[in-house]
Amino acid sequence: MDLSRWLTEAVAANAAWAKTFGPFEPHPSLAVDDERFAAAFASFAERLTDNYPFFHPRYAGQMLKPPHPAAVAGYVTAMLINPNNHALDGGPATAAMEREVVQQLATMFGYETHLGHLTTSGTIANLEALFVARELHPGKGVAYSTEAHYTHGRMCRVLGVDGHAVPVDDRGRMDLGALEELLRGGKIGTVVLTAGTTGLGAIEPIHEASALRERYGVRIHVDAAYGGFFTLLAGDLGIPTEPWQAIAQADSIVVDPHKHGLQPYGCGAVLFGDPSVGRFYVHDSPYTYFTSDELHLGEISLECSRAGAAAAGLWLTFQLLPPTREGLGQVLAAGRRAALRWAELIEASGRLRLYQPPELDIVGYFAGDSLSEIDAVSARILQEGMTDQEDPVFLSTLRVGGERFSARHPGIAADADGARILRSVLMKPESETYVEHLHERVEELAG
Ligand SMILES: *Cc1c(COP(=O)(O)O)cnc(C)c1O
Repeated sequence: MDLSRWLTEAVAANAAWAKTFGPFEPHPSLAVDDERFAAAFASFAERLTDNYPFFHPRYAGQMLKPPHPAAVAGYVTAMLINPNNHALDGGPATAAMEREVVQQLATMFGYETHLGHLTTSGTIANLEALFVARELHPGKGVAYSTEAHYTHGRMCRVLGVDGHAVPVDDRGRMDLGALEELLRGGKIGTVVLTAGTTGLGAIEPIHEASALRERYGVRIHVDAAYGGFFTLLAGDLGIPTEPWQAIAQADSIVVDPHKHGLQPYGCGAVLFGDPSVGRFYVHDSPYTYFTSDELHLGEISLECSRAGAAAAGLWLTFQLLPPTREGLGQVLAAGRRAALRWAELIEASGRLRLYQPPELDIVGYFAGDSLSEIDAVSARILQEGMTDQEDPVFLSTLRVGGERFSARHPGIAADADGARILRSVLMKPESETYVEHLHERVEELAG
């Protein structure tokens, strides 16, 4: 699709709608002439060139990529109206779109009933899930693995509940033996399992943890902020089925459409299996809601103002690339194949080594024979890769502890307490055809 055409259409559609309300006089205080705008815009555009090429497959670093053009067109078109999805009065159209996309997400995870809404981010979505968990298990703590997103610990402090970090196995997944020991103490009310850890994309054993849920009466929250959409590929491309199937039994789920759902930032989502948890949000806003008797989005959300445009962008994207295996699933499948291919190339390489086999689309790798050397080489490759004038590559590093490193690679001299390894998130489908070149470049840099 031709984005410039559809951005022009966006302005035209908005003007046609605005015209139905009759003419009025624009205020001179807001007037900006095109000449002054051009000058400001030129320096603005220049400032924005200070960025990494997130759109290009030579950027294989963090979880960053531009939104799909359909998301941009949907977001911009709605933003011209600027609805606020806090309340139905804030924008009936985008509130309805939000309900529809949240239903699609719930269906994707196999939820038969749900209460849910979009959020500004995965962090806020997780905060909401932990807030509800605290209300249901007052005085009890929250357990998450040492590989869980760092904001779980932070949000436990915000909520005034005890957070407990549970050790992981040698693939970076929560150790359920250690979890059960903790649960026996009776101090835990909620267990957070991560479906796709942020560091290495490990899928924690959600299916096996379900038994502990019954035995110890704990809630299960699944943090699928990064990995959630991979449920579309369960059973395919070496992605197991069981943990994804078990998500349907979780008490709450978080997924970030602004990571793997092709959306601009400002789009997370939280889903609860039991709609009655809406009672915990009841508040007493002095502002009038004049259009609705049913719970509206602002009554089931901790945030107040929230971009209706975010729901619009996701809704329009899902019309074209729905959250199904044939739709959005094909976008993720290409990145997954790229990760598998790169892992193969690294295993055959004389210079690079795989840190562990990729479970989703994140590849961890290193060069060197001791932790201190590996750390130095990772830092050097990162720096030289992105400053190369001719053929740059943009990677990222991940710090791993010495013990965890030795569990995977006992032959590496443990002469430091940890090391940075190289990490690449292959979340653009274009990585699939570019991965051979990426590998060549990183091998050159390692040599
Ligand atoms: C990214 C991420 C988060 C935080 O989400 P934001 O949208 O960045 O706030 C939480 N959990 C996991 C597993 C993540 O990958």
